[in-house]
Amino acid sequence: MTIIDGKQTAADLRTAIKQQTDTRIARGLSKPGLAVILVGENPASEVYVRNKCNACEEVGFYSLSKTFPYGVTEEELLNLINDLNNNSAINGILVQLPLPEHINEEKIIEAIDPLKDVDGFHPYNIGRLALRMPVLRSCTPKGIMTLLASTGISLEGKEAVVIGASNIVGRPVSLELLMARCTVTTCHSRTIDLEAHVRRADIIIAAVGIPGFVKGDWVKPGAVVIDVGINRLDTGKLVGDVDFAGAAKNASWITPVPGGVGPMTIASLLENTLQAAELQSS
Ligand code: NAD
Repeated sequence: MTIIDGKQTAADLRTAIKQQTDTRIARGLSKPGLAVILVGENPASEVYVRNKCNACEEVGFYSLSKTFPYGVTEEELLNLINDLNNNSAINGILVQLPLPEHINEEKIIEAIDPLKDVDGFHPYNIGRLALRMPVLRSCTPKGIMTLLASTGISLEGKEAVVIGASNIVGRPVSLELLMARCTVTTCHSRTIDLEAHVRRADIIIAAVGIPGFVKGDWVKPGAVVIDVGINRLDTGKLVGDVDFAGAAKNASWITPVPGGVGPMTIASLLENTLQAAELQSS
């Protein structure tokens, strides 16, 4: 069994992005610019936004963050998005989710220029992915595909079972795996006999949000296990959706939590911001 080291892969990716950014600037083009919008006082979201801005700085991007109080109106947010859509120093716009209940998340996401939608959540980008013509790909699924590629195993024809069907992970990663020519099964909370699906999987993607949901003996010998879950136990410990110790006995490759998928999400965001900048300069 080999651990898939997301921390190292993400660090390598950041180094490559920094080099490409330096080359871009040497060509006389602008620094890639990312705008991050945060609403309300959610400590977890504040940490994510800070990490995203720090990562931008590390690779030589320009970044700005705009923070609004909880009571901000939809109109105020839409006005800012409109300004950022028209601001040539900004190549990527990210709205940190979740938003307060009085704000319509779909309306906000759809207001972002699809070519600046570096989270890859806009229906344009999800639609392009569904049609095998991706432009900006959702960050966590893209990071998962980079990790799978890092193993060097061929995905073609493999049985991939995704557990979870959310708009931000389960659905887009299912589309990614289909594009990579896997035979894909997407399981969710209404799936009958989920265990039987997981037991025949060559590739398991767990994105449920329940600690230890996938039992070690469900993992077929030689399967690749990607654990997307980030769950904090009462003890403060972070764990994934997979019983790591049990699964590691059967898996050929497995991601740890933390240090697996988590670091890849921000690295993919940086990749998308650079890609968006290149698209906008061409
Ligand atoms: P979500 O709550 O939006 O979706 C969970 C999915 O799991 C749903 O489709 C639901 O149908 C399914 N599900 C719930 N209970 C189930 C059950 N008993 N059996 C089968 N399916 C069930 O969650 P999400 O946003 O997709 O996130 C999933 C997990 O991934 C969470 O732990 C989250 O913290 C983590 N996450 C990690 C990253 C990262 O960067 N590593 C990014 C996003 C999400």
